Amino acid sequence: AVSIQGLYKQYGNGPTVLNNINLEIAEDDFIGLIGPSGCGKSTLLKLLGGLESKTKGDIQFLTQQTSPRPKMGFVFQDANLMPWLTVIANVMLPLELNGASKQEAERKAIQLIEMVGLGHVKNHYPRQLSGGMRMRASIARALTIEPQLLLLDEPFGALDEMTRDDLNEELLKLKQLQAWVGVFVTHSVTEAVFLSSRVLVMSANPGEIYREIPIDLPFPRTSETR
Ligand code: ATP
Ligand code: MG
Repeated sequence: AVSIQGLYKQYGNGPTVLNNINLEIAEDDFIGLIGPSGCGKSTLLKLLGGLESKTKGDIQFLTQQTSPRPKMGFVFQDANLMPWLTVIANVMLPLELNGASKQEAERKAIQLIEMVGLGHVKNHYPRQLSGGMRMRASIARALTIEPQLLLLDEPFGALDEMTRDDLNEELLKLKQLQAWVGVFVTHSVTEAVFLSSRVLVMSANPGEIYREIPIDLPFPRTSETR
């Protein structure tokens, strides 16, 4: 679980981007964040992921393990794969950086690559893949380390609606297999309602969480509830 208290962010001497964010994320939550462009959604993810420093406030990770920061997986809009590495090498990378042996990394990477349906292109380079395939590879890469917190920033923004729907379902299946807490940003309310346990709406200038959309459907949802 994650507890965010009185979180503020200013870049340098610029305006307040995040203004007093308070949020309790439960252990099995998959939080959907929506809001206008520039309201601070990516900034909030970056603070959660430790990619940017906060100006004020507190982010506490209430996980079982002793380390101060949980294992995290990131998925960005442009997939961010290393262009000079094959799919399998991309997915193995975080494991190898975490000290896994080559065999172990390969075993886990193949497992995830097959789970996201990329077994047949595992030796291809990112430029040889479609946008949806690149996104699948990016999701596999984020999940190989079995993250406790998965952060997704408009992962499907650039994809057509059918690919998007497929990936939404895929992600919900993966959520049932792995026990991460998820936070994801989207511009699609439909997607937010389908994927998330809770949907939070942010407002801009300054960025605040100003309401939660009540969803009267069981979570995780199924295609029938779409
Ligand atoms: P979008 O939906 O367009 O992705 P967003 O909600 O993710 O928008 P952020 O990227 O978090 O918005 O940006 C929030 C505000 O912070 C914007 O006004 C932006 O210009 C500013 N900002 C973001 N990153 C930086 C940075 N590195 N330095 C200075 N200002 C920044
Ligand atoms: Mg953004």
